[in-house]
Amino acid sequence: MLIVNADELLTLAGTSLKPRVGKEMRELAIVRDGAVAVRDGRILAVGKTKEVVRAFRAGYVISAQGKTVLPGFVDPHTHLVFAGSREDEFEMRVEGVSYMELMSSGGGILKTVKETRKARVEKLVELGLERLDAMLIHGTTTVEAKSGYGLTTGDEVKILEATRRLNQLHSVNVVSTFMGAKAVPIEYLSNPEEFVSLILTEMIPKIASRGLAEFCDVFCERGSFSLEQAKRMLVKSKSVGLKPKIHADEFSSLGGAEIAADIGAVSAGHLVFSSVEGIKALGRKGVVAVLLPAAAFSLMIGRFADARLMIDSNVPVALGTGFDADCWVESQQLVIAMACRFMRMTPAEAITAATVNGAYALNRADEVGTLEVGKRADILVLSVPNHKFVGYRFGVNLVDKVIKNGRLVVDREKQDEPIFMSKNE
Ligand SMILES: [Zn+2]
Repeated sequence: MLIVNADELLTLAGTSLKPRVGKEMRELAIVRDGAVAVRDGRILAVGKTKEVVRAFRAGYVISAQGKTVLPGFVDPHTHLVFAGSREDEFEMRVEGVSYMELMSSGGGILKTVKETRKARVEKLVELGLERLDAMLIHGTTTVEAKSGYGLTTGDEVKILEATRRLNQLHSVNVVSTFMGAKAVPIEYLSNPEEFVSLILTEMIPKIASRGLAEFCDVFCERGSFSLEQAKRMLVKSKSVGLKPKIHADEFSSLGGAEIAADIGAVSAGHLVFSSVEGIKALGRKGVVAVLLPAAAFSLMIGRFADARLMIDSNVPVALGTGFDADCWVESQQLVIAMACRFMRMTPAEAITAATVNGAYALNRADEVGTLEVGKRADILVLSVPNHKFVGYRFGVNLVDKVIKNGRLVVDREKQDEPIFMSKNE
């Protein structure tokens, strides 16, 4: 397959094997009138159209004239697998009830936990497939999925088994994270420490030995898990081969960023209230900050992470949807639009954050996140003439085509025209 004549081909090819920081985040390594050659699911060549078509003959040619070509989006933070929905609570939140208030009255996460416990694995797979379809159509080709709506060993295993099935069944690559410490379940509310000990002695060993997850994540917040508990769980997970991640400083400045740096987490999510010291520590340790502006937007926190300070402090910034039952968003394009407006990231920085830095947050940068020879051919063709449109034009899907593992899996040009557009009848 050849993709030719792209107005802008964003290769994001870098000079180092590290996540992009500081000014590097603005360097998209753009080839004008660019082309990509693909064979056997891999990228064979990248360069000027003239040169690539001289070197390779293809059975299938895609014209990207007037369009922008870039790596598939990597979404490094989602809670993909859950049952039920919480639109009633959304209405209450709009009317002023806070997230933590909903939680303490048995709503919020705990409602979704109840519904997810009741669901069979087949149902969870079916729901997950629909969500992955929506993500793929909007350009996401690699996604992380956290468990955490089960909160018993059996239900967490069930969610992670559904996640494994989703990775096998769907063309989107699904990276699995165990997050038993997402909330304290109702049966342990009077003794959260007992639940922590269940995670430490039963869940983490079982999930690691069955190879059901690659990462372990912990929600560190008042009313959930303390810094000290988070640290214990992540140290334990690390010792059995689950790489640590953390949900930190989402609603208050607890010191989660500092802990992430301290234990050498691969990434830290949210960071809305992180201290300056915490941010500097992330930069020193190279912990990827996964910012989730759609989550702050959806929960109406009224504040966003300080992306500018992070970029100035050499923190590698990535962007994720934070998809879950109270932040129901499948589109990294919308997240980019929010990152530009609410966190003052430039379109180029936001694209870097949603591709190559997202790949680093999932330890997948050797495979995806840039368009370079040898990498997996996960490629987007967007129906806009340059990268600045990504973020600028929002609320519609800019995807024209998605190529996944070298196969054309989404082609919106080929869709039948909507009836109301037809003039001939
Ligand atoms: Zn999350």
